[in-house]
Order: sequence, then structure tokens, then C-alpha cells
Amino acid sequence: MRPFTASVLLRLVGYALIAWLLCRINKNNKLTWSVWRPSVRGNPARPLDFIASPVLGTHTHQAGENQTEFSAKGFDAMQRKRILIVGGVAGGASCAARARRLSETAEIVIFDRGDYVSFANCGLPYYVGDVIRKEDDLLVATPELFRERFNIEVRLQADVVAIDRNRQTISVRDLRSGSVYEEAYDALVLSPGATPIRPNLSGIDLPGIFSLRTIPDSRRIREWIDRSQAKRALIVGGGYIGMEMTENLVRRGLAVTVVEMQSQIMPLLDPEMAMPVQTLLASEGVRLRLNETVTGFAAGESGLLRVQLASGAEESADLVLLCIGVRPETGLARAAGLEVGEHGGIRVDARMRTSSPHIWAVGDAVEVRDAVTHRYAVVPLAGPANRQGRIAADVIMGREASFRGVQGTSVVGILGSVVAFTGPSEKALRKFGLWDDGSYEKIYLHPGHHAGYYPGASPISLKLIFRRDDGRVVSAQAFGKEGVERRIDVIAMTIQKSGTVFDLEEAELCYAPQFGSAKDPVNMAGMIAANVIRGDARIAHWEDLERTPALILDVRDPAEFKSGSIPGAAHIPLDELRRRMGELPRDRDIWAYCFVGQRSYYASRALQQYGYRIKNISGGYKTFLQSRPPALEPAGKKAE
Ligand code: FAD
Repeated sequence: MRPFTASVLLRLVGYALIAWLLCRINKNNKLTWSVWRPSVRGNPARPLDFIASPVLGTHTHQAGENQTEFSAKGFDAMQRKRILIVGGVAGGASCAARARRLSETAEIVIFDRGDYVSFANCGLPYYVGDVIRKEDDLLVATPELFRERFNIEVRLQADVVAIDRNRQTISVRDLRSGSVYEEAYDALVLSPGATPIRPNLSGIDLPGIFSLRTIPDSRRIREWIDRSQAKRALIVGGGYIGMEMTENLVRRGLAVTVVEMQSQIMPLLDPEMAMPVQTLLASEGVRLRLNETVTGFAAGESGLLRVQLASGAEESADLVLLCIGVRPETGLARAAGLEVGEHGGIRVDARMRTSSPHIWAVGDAVEVRDAVTHRYAVVPLAGPANRQGRIAADVIMGREASFRGVQGTSVVGILGSVVAFTGPSEKALRKFGLWDDGSYEKIYLHPGHHAGYYPGASPISLKLIFRRDDGRVVSAQAFGKEGVERRIDVIAMTIQKSGTVFDLEEAELCYAPQFGSAKDPVNMAGMIAANVIRGDARIAHWEDLERTPALILDVRDPAEFKSGSIPGAAHIPLDELRRRMGELPRDRDIWAYCFVGQRSYYASRALQQYGYRIKNISGGYKTFLQSRPPALEPAGKKAE
């Protein structure tokens, strides 16, 4: 080699060395040396992570890190991210798995203070109800599976007790040994979930009073039922977990009483849509105590619990389940100075970033924007938690992902029936002051879940809320036996895509007689609402019946009219209407109804064209009946 070439080569090597050293000097002007010692047991040699992260800055090694090795691969290692995840169930596990799919070189560690990772919280009521027989079936993934399939380390019984944002470390208490150690992160994801609310009432810690959040909770409830041979259960709270537990305890042969402080169960529904559920529960022997609050507990005779109520009444039960909601688990975030919103959830933006760089948060612990009202909301559901976990991983890995907002799309099975909803209820819109200016309208319908001529059709009661000006779909609630959730899912997607009632009208959906109708309930909802917007159908509502000076006109058949009608209604069957039209006043409003609103729509179209001041009562007599409180005492089936 000629001396000139050798000196150039030497110089080049020198420059490369200086460049490499400069790269290793971090933003705090500290020289960082080692590559990560893979703290994931059995971590194989990993290829380069080529995914650049605009979100993460240059990595800073911190105290407490495992950094014992130095190797020439150090520059490559700088590209690796250390992602620590607090909470390993819905949001956390989903984030971890997605992060691994995006980067083979990231180091991913999940910490969970519990005994399990990635278990099926949503299956717990069915484990108590013995529908899910084996506890192991609740385990969606084990630490071994995470390690072997995804090269993700899971540390259980590992309680994350503090975050040091400046040093980018967390402190973890090993609940087995009691020792506390630190771990450094490039990206920290909080998915700590929520805690069941347990009010500070006298006797709250008595044996036999349970909350349901974890596998051990469900195991304890099962054991208690078996050991005490429980016959009577009292459920505090008539929300969806209360309803799922009601179903499962009824299934196990217990007599169930539900105490709910509001005037209806399923408080996220509008009262008239909760009414069929209440009627169903009463018919199945479930006792409902509405407008009632539990004030304390005491031990009664023969192991029974005495439950004191605000009205002065007392109930007794072998088992009490507290289903009164959850509170976002924000202790860690608050202590670290992260912003917490007015609903008590960790504030995140659409990219799931908290107020602090390098920290993301997802799931039940966060408050995010509502897709319809654009207000912040805490919506503790598995779907949003999973999607948010995935989005956080995407963002950490430099992708342009963002969360579209929550709609609260939910479904609950109750004793053979189904209730589902998406978007804000009328009640919620009224609370936010959004209803009263007339921007929103609603319609009710009760179509069969499939073609009426095919055996077995059962009705779906559907309420659709939409904007009057442009027909944008806002929300929907439905109750029935079959096909309920499918319709709500279609409407949920329409809402997310800012779709209108005209889109529902035109939606092309599956049809064969055993599955649906050529005009699917979703199409019907769109058509009815579109008729309202176009002025083809003028509608009135059940809640205005008591105040209206209008003539109420029943157009059903005589036998139907005889079996019950809206008080004070005149009666002209639809088939006689054209002949007897002269009996109707032209100088007075007329509100027509039939059983579900279809025949009265035909009547109102005819009368409108003859110049009558006619409106159709949306949802007809059925909606009127649904708006009346049923007798809440059960039919006597299983009650004492
Ligand atoms: P979680 O799944 O609760 O996980 C949080 C984890 O973080 C926990 O394991 C906890 O131990 C751990 N943790 C918390 N703090 C720390 C810490 N400091 N250090 C270490 N670990 C920590 N949703 C639906 O959509 N449909 C349903 O049918 C449904 N049914 C449900 C039934 C029941 C009985 C329950 C309890 C919930 C149900 N949910 C349902 C709600 C759903 O399970 C939650 O929305 C979802 O699990 C939230 O996910 P997450 O990751 O935010 O929190």
C-alpha cells in the first residue's frame, strides 16, 4: 500500500472514531458507554431497528440501567428503544405486542402489580356465572407466551410506585421481596386501568361484600357462593357490570335485588330505552329498587348481610356486589405531575401523549375526546383501551397514528335479551345544553330483526338521534333479542365517519330472510329520519302527549284499540280513514299513532296531502308503553 493511501485510510478511521464518540455524548454532555445488556431473559441477538422516532429524543442512559457490556455494536444499540409499560391487560398488552410487531430491536417490559397479564376482565362475570368453567380460560396470554412469541418481558407482582420524569426512570416495588428498584425508559406507557369505587360506608369490609375487577375477585365470589350456599344476592348499581352480574347470578339460581340510586337502570341509556330492560328484569323475578341508595351494611343472623337503604328500608342478602363504577387509576400519574382532567382521567392528546414528553397513557385511566361532542370523557371500555394501546405503540415508533375519539359503543346481554348503544344519549345531550336549541331530533322504530314472513322474527326497539340541519347521525340505542348489536355496529361506524341519516337510508347491508330484511332496520331508521328532515313526515313525541292540545288519533284496528290506547284518543282505523276523513278537524293539530308508527305514517302522509295539520307520534303505542314505568315488583318467579 502506498504511504499516501495508508495515511488517508488512517485519517478516515480516526474521523469515524471521533464521529462515533460524538454520537455517544448525550444531550446532558455525559459520555454514554455501554450498549443495553438485554435484560429480557433469553433475548436473542436483535437486528437493527430502522424505524426512526421523531417523538423520542436521543436516548439518555440512566442510573439503574443494565449496562454492563460494551461492544462495537453500540451505535446500533443507540437506535433501540426501551419501552416500559405499566399495566399488562387490555391497553398495556396491546401496546406491547404492537410495539414488538413494529420493532424487533426495541426492548419491551411490562410491569403489572397483579398475578396475571392479559386476562379477560370482560369474561369475569361469566366465570362467576359458571358459563366459563375454568379459570385458565380467562388467561388470554401468559408471561411465557409474551416471552417466547413476542420477546417481551413481563414482570408480575411488580408495582410501579414512582416516575422520575427528569431522569426518565420508574421505581418498581417487587411485591414478592419488597425491594424497590429503578428502570430507565425511552418511552413509558401507562395503562393502569381503573379501580372499582368502594364507598366509605359502615360495614363495607364485612365478609360477603365484593367488587369485581380481577381474577382473584371472581374466584372469591365463586367460592363464597359455593361455601355459603348463597340464595340471595344484592347488587349495588344497575350499570352494565351490574346487569351482567344480575344475569349470571340469576343463572346460578340466586334471587337478585338491584339497588340503583338513579330512577332507571343502565343510566347511560335514555329512560324510555331502559324501560324494556326493567320490564324484562321484573318478569324474570329480579327486584329493582330504584331511586334508592345503600347507606351501610351490618351482619345479620345466619351469616346474612343486612343492607341499609337511605329510605330507611332494609334488605338482606348472602352476598353483596358493588357495581357502582370505577375511578381512573391516576395515583402514579398525579404524583409525577402529569395533567389530570376534570373527569379524573390522565389527559392525553389524540396521539395518546400525556402532558409530559416520553410518557403515553391509554385505557380506563385516561380521558379522551368524545367523537360526537368533542368534550373530554372517561369511557372505561375494552375496545378503546386496545385501540389506544396500539396507537401509542405506533406513535412511539414514529407512525402518524391518532385516536378518533370515543363513542361509548357498548353491548350488554341480559337474560336472553340484548341492549346496545353508541354515542351520547338524549339525556347526555340535554345535560350538555346541546338539545334544547332544537339542533337535534330523534325517532323511534320497532322493526323485526329479520323478515316477518320467516319464522322467529323478534322486534328490535331502536332510537336514533341525528342533527336536524345536515342529518348527521349522533347516536343510537337499541333493545331486542337478536340482531341488536349488528345494527348498532353499523350505526357506530356511520357516526365515526361523520355519516348521515341519508347514508343509513342508502346503506347496502346483508339480506336473506333469516338474517334481515330487504329494508334492514338500519335502512328503516335512515328512511324515517330522512323523511323528517325532508319534511315528508312531521313527528311528535310521547313525552309531549300530556301537554299537547292536539287531537290524538289512533289508526289501529278495533281489536288493538280495545286492548289499550293512549288516554283520550279518537279512533279511526287506517283502512277507514279516507272514507271518514271528514270527522277530523282541519283547524286543530292531529297527532296520529298506531302500534309502532308505520300505519300512522301512512295515515299522516294522506292527511298531510289533504291539508290536515297532522303529525305522527314516533314509535307509536309501543314507545308510549315503553315510556311508562312498569310495576317493579317481579312477577313472582324467583323472588321470595
Ligand atoms: P386494565 O385492563 O384494568 O389493566 C390495568 C392493569 O394495570 C391491572 O392489571 C393492574 O393490576 C395494573 N396496574 C395498575 N397500576 C399499576 C401499577 N402502579 N404498577 C403495576 N401495575 C399496575 N369492557 C368492554 O368493552 N366490554 C365488556 O364486556 C366489559 N366487561 C367488563 C367486565 C368486568 C367485570 C370488568 C371489570 C371490566 C369490563 N370491561 C368491559 C372493561 C374493560 O375490561 C376495561 O375497559 C379494560 O380492561 C381497560 O383496560 P386497561 O388496560 O386500561 O386496564
